[in-house]
Amino acid sequence: MAQGLRAAIDFLLYEWLQAQTLATRERFADHSRETFDAVLDTCERIAREKYAPFNRLVDTEEPRFDGERVILPAATHEAWKAYADSGMLSAAQDYAIGGMQLPYTVEAAGNAFFAAASVSIGAGMLTVGNANLLMAHGTEAQRRAFARHEFAGRFSGTMCLSEPQAGSSLSDIATRAVPDGDDYEADPLGPRYRLRGNKMWISAGEHELTENIVHLVLAKIPGPDGRLPPGVKGISLFIVPKKLVDADGRLTGERNDVALAGLNHKCGWRGTTNTLLNFGEGRYPVRAPGLDGRGAGAIGYRVGEPGQGLRYMFHMMNEARIGVGMAATMLGMAGYLASLDYARNRPQGRPIGPAGKDPAQPPVRIIEHADVKRMLLAQKAYCEGALALELYCARLVDEQHTGDAAAADEARLLLEVLTPIAKSWPSEWCLEANSLAIQVHGGYGYTRDFPVEQYWRDNRLNMIHEGTHGIQALDLLGRKVLMEEGRGMQLLGARMAATIARARGVPALAAHADALHGAWDAVRAATQAAWADGDPVPALANAVPYLQAFGHTVLAWIWLDVALAAAGREDAANRGRLLACRYFFHYELPKTAAWLQVVRERDLTCAEMPEDAF
Ligand SMILES: Cc1cc2nc3c(=O)[nH]c(=O)nc-3n(C[C@H](O)[C@H](O)[C@H](O)COP(=O)(O)OP(=O)(O)OC[C@H]3O[C@@H](n4cnc5c(N)ncnc54)[C@H](O)[C@@H]3O)c2cc1C
Repeated sequence: MAQGLRAAIDFLLYEWLQAQTLATRERFADHSRETFDAVLDTCERIAREKYAPFNRLVDTEEPRFDGERVILPAATHEAWKAYADSGMLSAAQDYAIGGMQLPYTVEAAGNAFFAAASVSIGAGMLTVGNANLLMAHGTEAQRRAFARHEFAGRFSGTMCLSEPQAGSSLSDIATRAVPDGDDYEADPLGPRYRLRGNKMWISAGEHELTENIVHLVLAKIPGPDGRLPPGVKGISLFIVPKKLVDADGRLTGERNDVALAGLNHKCGWRGTTNTLLNFGEGRYPVRAPGLDGRGAGAIGYRVGEPGQGLRYMFHMMNEARIGVGMAATMLGMAGYLASLDYARNRPQGRPIGPAGKDPAQPPVRIIEHADVKRMLLAQKAYCEGALALELYCARLVDEQHTGDAAAADEARLLLEVLTPIAKSWPSEWCLEANSLAIQVHGGYGYTRDFPVEQYWRDNRLNMIHEGTHGIQALDLLGRKVLMEEGRGMQLLGARMAATIARARGVPALAAHADALHGAWDAVRAATQAAWADGDPVPALANAVPYLQAFGHTVLAWIWLDVALAAAGREDAANRGRLLACRYFFHYELPKTAAWLQVVRERDLTCAEMPEDAF
């Protein structure tokens, strides 16, 4: 599998995105294609040796709680150690703190190998996101005590947003944070609070892979009347370590009041623990008096200003969402390559000739049937297209961080518009790819003797977490395409126009260029029609079909641009890219017309369905 994946990544990185030119930037000056390749080689090797062989094991040996400790397979411990030792946790950081100053584009490509090999053993995405947030918004003391140890792999990190009653609607969180004593502002690790509340669905919330776990927790500080402020503006952010530390991150020997209430038993992604955590209920009293005179209340250090918690959390969202999109893409890719291999070897059925079937002939391999080729080509178009999109977005992140002012601003705005697509499109369509991979396997695909059912189960998460599909759609149509007077959409349109102009000069691609031109015009017209009178009710009633149409149009553009890099080359891999592009334009892009029709007409069939008519 890794071979097909590596070839796809190499082509997209170097032939299409020209990632090697990043080495001309000051920040990446010590790098070159050779150093990028060395990182990819290391990731590929660790993923092959420490992740892939244990993907089924971590699915069947779910995490267990023995009342004291959470038990994970030994393979998970070894994989974490190998990943941390590789330096990937701090790949993008400054040399001064032990990092490699690697472009995010290459980091994202390297991490793709782990997601393809065993997504749920995990490759530290949450830990890196957590530590990056502290680098951006924490104090020097907080970086020193927490973030640096996360980059080194001594500590791991979580993101504690969701609560049992508050998932999509974070304004309803009820976790409280009250100042811890009169001297609460004098703590060197930041203003110190006591937290009490329940956090649901927390990934990697409890385990013993690392010495400590750094929880980043959203909570509300009550006003003088004791009430929690309403809305998202009342949300603050706190560092709540499982075990307390000193200024250098050394464990003080005190256990913080954070208790595992239970593990969630999931459909897939079982190699990662998923937890309900109780903060501050007094299970582990710490530093009395606390909330009850006996040390109840989890100790947390505020990050930044009160009321800015969600804004800080969202700082990391672009990269987190590219990470989710990449994970979805890699699960799709793993299924595609497994089903391709199966189809090349499974004999079944005879071809239909002009005179029908000849039963005297031996059976052919199923890859020879047109419908099986359709299923394989669909997977290829979804997954390689999604991979290109994720790497394109990662390249924009590098532009945002290292480009000149105008280029950085353009990249920022393009990322605002593209991020809901980068997260949601692979979550939906690479999941569909996994379903097709099962179909290619026939009955065998529905058993645990083949890997594809697990890929589907693992992938099913991605439309749910990091903002559900529905929430991403509302974000796109309700906010992103409108922000800054629609400038993000205009920038995207300009990039599409440039691709279209080039493709019109290539006879094999000219018809696709016209089709893309028409599809983007239709997306723009539907956006205007949806918002014709500014009323959000009919405008947003069909936000998901809009997301689907927008996403398919973006992918058509990505494929056309990739096809330009492949055009004129005669080898099989590039012919395959051109045919996947053609598949996308002939079989997928036409779907956008139906999706956009209900958006344009502000169809209220769903919105007006009376509850008692269901
Ligand atoms: C395996 C797993 C890992 C997770 N890891 C973490 C983690 O590490 N940290 C963390 O904080 N959270 C985590 N989550 C939580 C995840 O982010 C939430 O499940 C998600 O945000 C949805 O919240 P919910 O489950 O409460 O569903 P709800 O918000 O109740 O949504 C249910 C349905 O209603 C729809 N809906 C809700 N509101 C609206 C609306 N306004 N308009 C239209 N439709 C709407 C949703 O789209 C969805 O289809 C994880 C979840 C899972 C399953």
